[in-house]
Amino acid sequence: MRNWLSRVADCADLNADYADVEVTMLNKELLEILVCPSCRKPVKEGGKKLVCQGCGRSYPVRDGIPIMLIDEAQKPKRGKGR
Ligand SMILES: [Zn+2]
Repeated sequence: MRNWLSRVADCADLNADYADVEVTMLNKELLEILVCPSCRKPVKEGGKKLVCQGCGRSYPVRDGIPIMLIDEAQKPKRGKGR
């Protein structure tokens, strides 16, 4: 019984960790069909955002839902890129 309880505790910890990485929880199939509304290139996970492979715009993810709107996108910063 004791082991069972500690296992539940471990699971709770894991869930807490997952809450931090909701972008990586995005359905891969969903990611594959998402394209940049600006240049229609595929997007890639980048931290808590989706980054366009074409124009470099980054789209926010809210509550696990990618906001694929040009108006919501952040344009790539120029001059200080890696
Ligand atoms: Zn783009």
